[in-house]
Amino acid sequence: MKRLQQTIECFSPRTALQKYSKEHLQDAIEIYGADLLDRSLEHGHLTASAIVLNSACDHVLMAHHKLFDSYGWLGGHSDGDADLLHVACKELTEETGISKFYPVLRAPISIEILDVRAHERRGVPVAKHIHYNVTFGFIASMKERLEVNAQENLAVKWIPIDELESYCTEAHMLPIYRDNIQQIKHLMSEKRKRYESLPAYLLPWYQENARILPWRQTKEPYAIWISEIMLQQTRVEAVVDYFYRFMALFPTVQSLATAQEDQVLKCWEGLGYYSRARNLHRAARVIVEQYGGMFPREKEQIEQLPGIGPYTAGAIASIAFDERCAAVDGNVLRVCTRLTEDWRNIDDASTKKSIAQLLERIYPADAGDFTQALMEIGALVCVPNGEPNCTHCPVERICVAKENQTAMLLPVRNEKKERKHQSITMILMEYQGEIALQRREAKGVLKGLWGFPHVEENLTWKEVETMLIQKGAEIRSVEALNGKHIFTHIQWDITCYHVICSQRPESYIWANTEQLQNQYTLPQAFKKFLNQIELGKE
Ligand code: SF4
Repeated sequence: MKRLQQTIECFSPRTALQKYSKEHLQDAIEIYGADLLDRSLEHGHLTASAIVLNSACDHVLMAHHKLFDSYGWLGGHSDGDADLLHVACKELTEETGISKFYPVLRAPISIEILDVRAHERRGVPVAKHIHYNVTFGFIASMKERLEVNAQENLAVKWIPIDELESYCTEAHMLPIYRDNIQQIKHLMSEKRKRYESLPAYLLPWYQENARILPWRQTKEPYAIWISEIMLQQTRVEAVVDYFYRFMALFPTVQSLATAQEDQVLKCWEGLGYYSRARNLHRAARVIVEQYGGMFPREKEQIEQLPGIGPYTAGAIASIAFDERCAAVDGNVLRVCTRLTEDWRNIDDASTKKSIAQLLERIYPADAGDFTQALMEIGALVCVPNGEPNCTHCPVERICVAKENQTAMLLPVRNEKKERKHQSITMILMEYQGEIALQRREAKGVLKGLWGFPHVEENLTWKEVETMLIQKGAEIRSVEALNGKHIFTHIQWDITCYHVICSQRPESYIWANTEQLQNQYTLPQAFKKFLNQIELGKE
């Protein structure tokens, strides 16, 4: 019951009647405890309702209830479930068939004590009683197909708010519906207002607190592009040295375009997600061929380049050219959903698009600084893992999640899929200071990159030994090393046999230390084992 008490406590009454209803319900919880959740408590019991508006807030979703012969809100009995928001969501789906909706608040938007007249339910008489009703507000898409729950309702419909009176014939319910609809509209408009004050809070903070990073010392789109690609899935600290090295080797888009792919990959070695490097190389060629070597300025043109999505295009357009384009990544989504207590699922493309649009409406002239300020607060203050540092946050005063203590529940995301495990057997074969290499296939993870000979299964040493002897190897010694390597969707569980040979099989490419350093790109999944041995020490 503690959860229920907390839910009720979170409700802030707007009228004297709501204040009375809240207190009355709190008293009832004290007296009846968990019995209040059960409809067998005859004098009255708990129900949860949903008032659902569309995103434009001009339509309300209602069902035509058989019992009242009127359109009305959606909802039902708690039936033992003390999580009333959950009850409201469940009933909303059961009565309308829709699943794409989100709460405007996790707290109730109203509490009512409602008289229910005596009636029959499935042929059984039900005595007059009261409903302690707790109402939640939702926003839903009007695009989803509606389905009537024929047991209880005659119809379900999106009703224009202006026409509510013609559909709802229960006169005593109309003021409640109107008040709740008004409250949802007010809350939605408040959320939008939080965006409006963002630049005023963020920009001065950024001037004071921005980290000094090499790509922030320039407005050169090429450098900003390289940094943005490197920063995808990678921490700033890991990127800085790579950035310097890359810019020294390929200082212009022309130099990158004319480089060999192997040179670019070698420069990327250890940074991971090698398709980023391949796409940089391809995009550089497009910029030289189609744009005469000048980086395109329009977000739409930038987005057409290989390896560039809406986020990176927005970042380059705003940072390099001060175009008012939002760059919405995980950091920005986290800050925005917390700032406005936005319960939409950020894994839905429509949420990202909508947040980008909300931001673009309020983008200031110094767009580059604003983009970077949003990224910076997400990286340093409103952090992805662990508690946000609200007391040092520039938007603390206007942050709804801070106010309602809901930051750790946001953002809402799809449940993470378990990473698949893949057994890998590697053979780090050494002969007189050289090691055997094999190129990976041109598909899947690490496609086309170099590695030690390996198979995607768990082989015993006996099996490996037989295979090597068949290939002509004479084995002098062997040591088994174990490890793992984590990719986005898969984890390699690796057994790596460090084999020293006195006769080497010729079916592999052999590379010495210098070649490994300058020529072959060896991904971290392999390199971590090479780092554990002393090459040439027999
Ligand atoms: Fe995040 Fe807290 Fe700042 Fe809100 S106040 S944006 S929750 S760090």
